[in-house]
Amino acid sequence: NSMNLTSFVEQVLDRFEMSTKNQSITFKRKLPDEPLFVYGDRDKLTQLLDNIVSNAVKYSPQGGTITCSVKVEKGRVIISVQDEGVGIPKDSIPHVFDRFYRVDKARTRSLGGTGLGLAIAKEIINAHGGDIWVSSEWGKGTRMSFSLPVPEEAKEA
Ligand code: ATP
Ligand code: MG
Repeated sequence: NSMNLTSFVEQVLDRFEMSTKNQSITFKRKLPDEPLFVYGDRDKLTQLLDNIVSNAVKYSPQGGTITCSVKVEKGRVIISVQDEGVGIPKDSIPHVFDRFYRVDKARTRSLGGTGLGLAIAKEIINAHGGDIWVSSEWGKGTRMSFSLPVPEEAKEA
């Protein structure tokens, strides 16, 4: 199914902006001015983006900024969610997409979760012909990115 990714991302961020008012998180948006159509399963992509944004919220400090950007690069669209949270230690980065993997059980236990969110996110993005990757610096923040193919007709337009 074809969907407008720009408005889709706006809607997800609007929802998080409302539900995180008490954490005073700022959501910055770097989105294209025009609609950007991709093929995808809206429910699955909602589940995917919800998990990534909820992780960013969960591991962000009070008053942190979360920046979400959408850009087209080399025939694919790249969606990134950047936070100013605790970050992920270098040794853990290769494992965050594994089932049930959670960094530092003691630290994350209080925050809740099963460690399945990113494993499911990876399955969803693979089924859409895209990739997902993370770059993070311990103590500084995390940027989670994923890509989706841009349909041929959209490239020509
Ligand atoms: P669930 O998503 O099932 O509720 P979860 O959020 O712990 O649980 P994942 O979303 O799979 O699980 O993330 C795996 C682990 O990666 C997390 O437990 C956390 O340690 C780390 N992680 C993920 N996103 C971030 C982030 N933005 N900042 C810091 N650590 C993160
Ligand atoms: Mg999660």
